[in-house]
Amino acid sequence: MTMAEVPVNPTSQFHDAIRQRVSKQQYDLWFKSIAVKAVEDGGVELSVANAFISEWLSSYYAEVIREALDKALTLSDDFAVEISAPAPEESSGGYAPIEMPAPVDTPAPDPTADNHQFFLQHSDVVLNPKYTFENFVAGPSNQLAHAAAMAVADAPAGSYNPLFLHGNVGLGKTHLLQAICHKAMQSGKSMNVLYLSSETFVNQFISAIGDGELDRFRYRYRNVDMLLIDDIHLLANKERTQDEFFHTFNALYNAGRQIVLSSDSPPGEIPTLKERLISRFKWGLVAEMAAPGYETRLAILRRKAADRGEQIAEEVLSFLAENIDTNIRELEGAVTKVVGYAQLIHQTVDISVAKRALGYRDSGRSPSVTGIERILDVVCKDYGVRITDLQGRKRTQSIAFPRQVAMFLARKLTPLSLEEIGGHFGGRDHSTVLYAVDKIRRRTTEDVDFARQVRRLELQTQGR
Ligand code: ADP
Ligand code: MG
Repeated sequence: MTMAEVPVNPTSQFHDAIRQRVSKQQYDLWFKSIAVKAVEDGGVELSVANAFISEWLSSYYAEVIREALDKALTLSDDFAVEISAPAPEESSGGYAPIEMPAPVDTPAPDPTADNHQFFLQHSDVVLNPKYTFENFVAGPSNQLAHAAAMAVADAPAGSYNPLFLHGNVGLGKTHLLQAICHKAMQSGKSMNVLYLSSETFVNQFISAIGDGELDRFRYRYRNVDMLLIDDIHLLANKERTQDEFFHTFNALYNAGRQIVLSSDSPPGEIPTLKERLISRFKWGLVAEMAAPGYETRLAILRRKAADRGEQIAEEVLSFLAENIDTNIRELEGAVTKVVGYAQLIHQTVDISVAKRALGYRDSGRSPSVTGIERILDVVCKDYGVRITDLQGRKRTQSIAFPRQVAMFLARKLTPLSLEEIGGHFGGRDHSTVLYAVDKIRRRTTEDVDFARQVRRLELQTQGR
């Protein structure tokens, strides 16, 4: 390709487009060093740090790169892409080993160096050193998945093949998959472990077809002892990739290799997943990871606090465990928020700090009738009206307005329902309360002075 030098450097646009398509880890590992050297209508020339990266990108990320270039630059439809690297004699040693981010905290992988080498070269993530079995808290919601994962890591291709883990986001699927990788590679046996997101499987497959390199693609996959694919539900609607995966699955399974899959739903509920794949996924063990119950949440919180070297009072932990019941990522986030907030305001973590950090009111969730009395009191004093006025039928502005402010505060500061609030204002119905709350809220967004005034009242009701 002969190309004109590029007058304006389009590298940064290209990098922006790449970053939208790949994970940060993939980006740091493979894409960071790419420079756009030349662009002309018929093609683009890219340069990278060494031949190893260039080969890797060509084999695995050709399609991703094309898409990014297409997005970033104005090109003709069938532009060519050339990836060049300094010739071996120019760069230090040609196939210079590519710089991998050093895994933090992992023990030196002496006897298992080859396992790690294989993993790093072929998988699309760098293992998170924290995603180990030691750091995983088992409870009734995830016990089966946890036990099966351990069994698979100890004795691959035994009873649980394939192992299929499914559950909602943030419940530990990726954590368990990576724990299997850690353990299998440390087993002291030689193990080719390959861990991929479904996305990468799809991307690699598509580029293999494009480049007429299906054979290489197949060899790469079928030559592993353990294949783990995270978020397999992303194969939904990808018919050809499903077919290819079906063959990969059979080849590995028949050769007695372990397959581990994770998904956001059970095999039969992944939309458009072909029947023959569904049935294969059920051959081994299908284990659900459900949302943890209170005790498990508490145990996880204790662990996360200890991991950070934080002493957090039991009362605070149980408050968090009671109130955050969606998933474990949220629980972790809550610990981070609370600890961070306490540091920011130079206080030790106590229940009131925790509530404020998470935006709860100090009254927590316990119904607080005193709360509403206090609100009535504060509002009456401020507007110079009587409580009986707020509870009566008068609708003159001088009464109706403070009444609406009081309703707004009641909604914001107490756990009472609209109905219950209405009850405290002379038995008004919930739509009246709703109207008031809406009106006042809107006004606080439009009128800074008024917002300040409401805020002052709010603080007063809390005795501040
Ligand atoms: P998923 O892949 O199911 O969306 P992840 O594996 O990414 O969920 O888990 C989300 C976060 O919660 C991770 O930081 C993980 O370490 C943590 N986590 C999940 N389950 C547990 C558990 N049982 N014990 C300790 N940490 C957990
Ligand atoms: Mg995940």
